[in-house]
Amino acid sequence: MPSYHDLLQQVRAEIEEIDAAAARDLIASTEPPLLVDVREGDEWSEGHIPGAVHVPRGFLESRIEQVAPDRSRPVVLYCAGGSRSAFAAKTLAELGYERVSSLAGGFTDWKRNGFPVQVPQSLDATKRRRYSRHLLIPEVGEEGQLKLLDSRVLLIGAGGLGSPAALYLAAAGVGTIGIVDDDRVDETNLQRQIAHSTQTLGEWKAESAQRTIQALNPDVEVVPYLERLTSENIDRILDDGWDVIVDGADNFPTRYLVNDASIWHGVPVVHGSIYRFEGQVTVFKPQEGPCYRCLFPQPPPPELAPSCAEGGVLGVLPGIVGSLQANEALKLCLGIGETLAGRLLLFDALSTEFSEVTLRRDPSCPVCGDNPTITEYVDYVEFCSGRPSDVAGAAHA
Ligand SMILES: [Zn+2]
Repeated sequence: MPSYHDLLQQVRAEIEEIDAAAARDLIASTEPPLLVDVREGDEWSEGHIPGAVHVPRGFLESRIEQVAPDRSRPVVLYCAGGSRSAFAAKTLAELGYERVSSLAGGFTDWKRNGFPVQVPQSLDATKRRRYSRHLLIPEVGEEGQLKLLDSRVLLIGAGGLGSPAALYLAAAGVGTIGIVDDDRVDETNLQRQIAHSTQTLGEWKAESAQRTIQALNPDVEVVPYLERLTSENIDRILDDGWDVIVDGADNFPTRYLVNDASIWHGVPVVHGSIYRFEGQVTVFKPQEGPCYRCLFPQPPPPELAPSCAEGGVLGVLPGIVGSLQANEALKLCLGIGETLAGRLLLFDALSTEFSEVTLRRDPSCPVCGDNPTITEYVDYVEFCSGRPSDVAGAAHA
């Protein structure tokens, strides 16, 4: 009968091992491996290699496919000293993983080399259960979930777009959600504004949405602003500190205010608009991408202004567009993926088609350009014509 020592030696001879310095170089390379920590939960919570995902050895076979669906991606496994990860590497090779290695000397040797260590804050058992489907995605994981819980997203409007965005952001565990809305819930809203209900008719939308969000997820703090955004209050509201603004406003004076404020406060805006069967989404990211004024430096002249008459909209359309806005907002909070900055995504509900238009920053933009001419807020007066809206000032929600 082979002893444990014999077995370990035998496994070591069959697998790839790399030392701490080689692992560090690999992690910093253009094709970083998936780093899997196979230790127990208490070891992980005392510190781990930054960027690693945690799959305890006992769950390796059952969970690895969820964190590493691509068997050709290199995987580096580590434990405390390099033994458990050696056995784990053999198992992954048997499961068809093509490029698996085990960190020789494990986390102990990594630390001894003075390489970076991350000591995670951790989620309690209740939160681990609630967000388990996020914890299973390596790009989110416990670290990402903690980031979301620390994130602050400001919603402009709790209407058609704000409703689904608010619900999905709250469900995902965005820790603080601000809602700016000075409207009350009426019956015509309920065909699409799913944060409200027949029971909340007549209530402030920000407070009605707050109740819905808190029933959905008590981890979320809601900050309601029962006011219309103006040049007088916008700095005060933004000074409360927001990571992302989700703009679901239904008028262009608000859109220009939000745009200018986002540049001056350095906060990205996820823009959405809807009309009948058509929806649009983009991200205006200060410094990197175009802003709203790069596309439309000034509001349209009165004869081209959008109609102020309530635009019709298919009930589900704001659900689709608002959910896309929530998707962009989550990525911005997590710092993952590619946002829609510089791209306008168009959705046609009748043909069920998505298309995309490239947007470019205008160096002569009056706000974000090289020589800005607008340096303080402009209160535009909303005016109306009989025309239906387009991107220049879509009537929404
Ligand atoms: Zn601009």
